[in-house]
Amino acid sequence: MQSLVIFGATGSIGSSTLDLVRKYPDKFRILGISARKNIAPLKEIAEEFKVPYLAVEREEDAKRLASSLSYKACVESGEEGLRRLAELEEAQTLVVGISGIKGLIPAYYGLLAGKRVALANKESLVVAGSLLKKAAKNGGGEIIPVDSEHSALFQLICGRKEEVEELYLTASGGPFYFCSEKELSRVTPEMAVKHPNWKMGAKISVDSATLMNKGFEVIEAMELFNFPVDKIKVLVHPQSIVHGLVKLRDGSVLAHLSVPDMRLAILYALTYPERYPLELSPLDLARIGKLEFFSPDTKKFPCLEIAYEVAHEGGLKPLILEAADEVVVEFFLQGKIRFLQIPYFLKKVLEKLEFKERVENLSISQILEYHREVRKFTEELICSQ
Ligand code: MG
Repeated sequence: MQSLVIFGATGSIGSSTLDLVRKYPDKFRILGISARKNIAPLKEIAEEFKVPYLAVEREEDAKRLASSLSYKACVESGEEGLRRLAELEEAQTLVVGISGIKGLIPAYYGLLAGKRVALANKESLVVAGSLLKKAAKNGGGEIIPVDSEHSALFQLICGRKEEVEELYLTASGGPFYFCSEKELSRVTPEMAVKHPNWKMGAKISVDSATLMNKGFEVIEAMELFNFPVDKIKVLVHPQSIVHGLVKLRDGSVLAHLSVPDMRLAILYALTYPERYPLELSPLDLARIGKLEFFSPDTKKFPCLEIAYEVAHEGGLKPLILEAADEVVVEFFLQGKIRFLQIPYFLKKVLEKLEFKERVENLSISQILEYHREVRKFTEELICSQ
């Protein structure tokens, strides 16, 4: 029986994980769950699985939740609550499905406490990859990627690291890949949050539409696989069937194919190196008929190039990009800036901000502080224009 803690239990990664636990009740038990403010759905999950440890964002929610449960549970709150859940002695695997910088907290403390971290949160790797790797080394924990492309690459690289020369991440291209510049200038938030192939939150759907998400994933791959960034390529692949490819030293290319369903990557992260059976709708290649691949158009979608530049510069530049992107996307979702202004503001922030520190020498609270600082700077910059 593997004891799991699911961070972001009410989100899409959380729901998929719960689904797997229901399929394999004799293999997994849920020791802890967290959510920010989705208290009612969290309570429902807690009651279904009688989860002993819970964490929410606000203290008042924690108190109310604890007294409303039909059984006795320990309900924590705030960043401290995330940390406690990550460090639970009985916990073996943490599923980090929180989006945003807060995912760094359970990932970091979990790795330091020697846990397996099934990591769906890309922000933590983008912002503080070297810090997480240091925590894993010192604490004995391990990161198993849940992001679909990285799970694919992880499976492809396994056992042949020395033979791999290049990594390829695929991108659906988002909903606007084939739009003209003129059409892009009229993209509204409602249009941008509808992703063609994956069900995801609003922020990541916008990132996917600008290709910023793929940019972050390049940085994520660089950190996860300790791979030089110019050996990590992106291919636009609208069908989202091939998730990753590796080119080997003799020129052979191996690819990972599956139906787009996050449960595959999650289950593999939980069971690795074993592979459990999973009945999803089968991959019917004859019905799909064709698989297409294109080079990304970085002129139309400059965010991808911005991410490559930032990856080359290293240091705190990826943190600046990630924090700035959060704010810029919020402004776009609120209808305050236009779709095509997203890369413009990101470039402006990157031009103006510079921190000299090395990520691995910072503490988690310092990282969060820098992140807040960049967010504030970005807000002020947009408002001043
Ligand atoms: Mg992905």
